[in-house]
This record gives sequence, C-alpha cells and structure tokens, in this order.
Amino acid sequence: MTQSFCPECNFRIEIAGPELGQLLTCSRCKTELEVIYVNPLQLDWVYDYAPNKYVADEEPEQFEFD
Ligand SMILES: [Zn+2]
Repeated sequence: MTQSFCPECNFRIEIAGPELGQLLTCSRCKTELEVIYVNPLQLDWVYDYAPNKYVADEEPEQFEFD
C-alpha cells in the first residue's frame, strides 16, 4: 500500500497500485486529486494539472483593448 497526503487537508491517503494520472477523491475534504508522481507517491489538485492547456484553447481575438 502506497500512501501520500491530501494537498488540501493533509489527510493521509493510501492507494494500492497507484498509476500516473489516476484520479481519486479525498475521503475527508472531497477534493478531486490526481496522481502526479508514483515513486514517491504525490497527489495534486486535478484543476491545477496542465493549466497551460486551457490558456492555449482561448481565442486571443476575443480580448479587445480599446
Ligand atoms: Zn483532503
């Protein structure tokens, strides 16, 4: 059993056979988490993952500066 801690509430989370990119929910604070590193096990907020993707999807033309 591999263990890590919730980045939101520091609750200890145990995962059997964690996989990179695996999604889980903290059983204490219900925050959605993602496995960002397996050895050692590290968890991060799902919405914090690859934030540049959303920036790239934005249409720059919609921002007008008069
Ligand atoms: Zn938590």
